[in-house]
Amino acid sequence: MNAKAMLRCVPAALAASALLVVVAPTDLRAYGLLGFNLGQSYRDVRVFNNFGDATANDNTQGDASWPGQTGAPLAIWKACSEWCSEKHDLSGAGDPHQPGGLGSGGANFDISWQGLATSIGAAGDRVHSELVGNNPGVYAFTEGPLGGPWDTGWRIRYYSAWAWDDGPDATLSSGTVDLQGVACHEYGHALGLAHTGFSNATMYAFVIGDGVGARSIESDDIAGVQAIYGVLDTAIKPHLASVALNGTTVTVTGSNFAATNNELWFTRAGPNATGTPLKVTGLASNGTLLTASLPAGAGPGDIQVRKGGAGGHKGLSNALAFDPQACAGVVSYCTAGLSSNLCLPTMTSSGTPSASASSGFTLSCLNLEGNKNALLFHGVSGRAALPWGTGGSSYLCVQPPTQRTLSANTGGSSGGCGGSYALDWLAWMVANPGALGTPLQVGATFDAQVWYRDPPAVKTTNLSNAIEFSVCP
Ligand SMILES: [Zn+2]
Repeated sequence: MNAKAMLRCVPAALAASALLVVVAPTDLRAYGLLGFNLGQSYRDVRVFNNFGDATANDNTQGDASWPGQTGAPLAIWKACSEWCSEKHDLSGAGDPHQPGGLGSGGANFDISWQGLATSIGAAGDRVHSELVGNNPGVYAFTEGPLGGPWDTGWRIRYYSAWAWDDGPDATLSSGTVDLQGVACHEYGHALGLAHTGFSNATMYAFVIGDGVGARSIESDDIAGVQAIYGVLDTAIKPHLASVALNGTTVTVTGSNFAATNNELWFTRAGPNATGTPLKVTGLASNGTLLTASLPAGAGPGDIQVRKGGAGGHKGLSNALAFDPQACAGVVSYCTAGLSSNLCLPTMTSSGTPSASASSGFTLSCLNLEGNKNALLFHGVSGRAALPWGTGGSSYLCVQPPTQRTLSANTGGSSGGCGGSYALDWLAWMVANPGALGTPLQVGATFDAQVWYRDPPAVKTTNLSNAIEFSVCP
């Protein structure tokens, strides 16, 4: 194969007859190899979204497993991820055509999703885009770097003469071609696979029907990608099992991390002129845990671990969906003290703690002692569980320092548990710009709790349970 050759991939008009041909198994020709493999430094995938058909960008729903994208880029992200070592985001969810999940390669191969590109790029820049024009009988083609080996890159162009459809449903608009299916085929070329003789394989030269069937790679395609990158080595290749963001600290768990020099790879917030992943480098690990500060510029997409000291195909982990701007859910924690009248005050919330809003996130406490003074306080230093006086039943659940907010009477009747407290915490923070935790930063985590008068109690006061939340965009 000439390194500068284009791989032209033929559409449905020819495939219709191919479907009718019944070939004996002994006549089938298995996967073919183009003679290169894509190096670890060239795993990035971007999309320049110049697709002109309305049907190419009419999936506006998005998908929590594929954060930050809709339309054509989302379809292409899914297409390339189908070749990966494991199911994307562990579940492989997101394609109604593949209830078994996206990510079927089972080889030592994973992509680095880098979102939107700012241009079609040069040949070899690892960008998908539409090409205005028509080449009769050809849907799309994959090309390598000018004058360079295909080990370092590719570029995929889709002819505008066809009506492209971004799905994600398995039933497309009439007369359209499935972008995800054709992208999955073309990316197979970028990985080093030639056409196969198996008509049910994604790497079959003729796209069958509308192309939806090509979204899912088949046993022949899997054998091909494993022949190039090796069968997934679970003893060496790093595996990501979970990711969490607390404030600005990213914590990932998994296996096969190195003792030193691990890297976390993030999707850059785009559009991006380069496909180079956003990396945090030099990370030590006990083998199963990594923590790092969230780097500026990280966007919604994927997170991966590049194992310290491990070059080659076994060095880059599977991908988990990661959205640094997602709002962590509000959670209750800690133990409420039992008041002298056997009230057990309990915290709740309503609304969203949005940094771009000036009100609308209310913290409440129910089941308080009636007709007593109460106030809410918060901290930004995490949780605590410090006994509130010797012999009492309450705990200080917010790590000091703490910020007192509004004091108010709980209402209800003395001696009963009908008291309550409520504060639009967001409005209070906006009105008190010098308060602890201001100005609000997206991703910052707060812990809050209610204090109230209870004269017979050990400290003449008691405390509710606590609530934790993160500031949303
Ligand atoms: Zn092809």
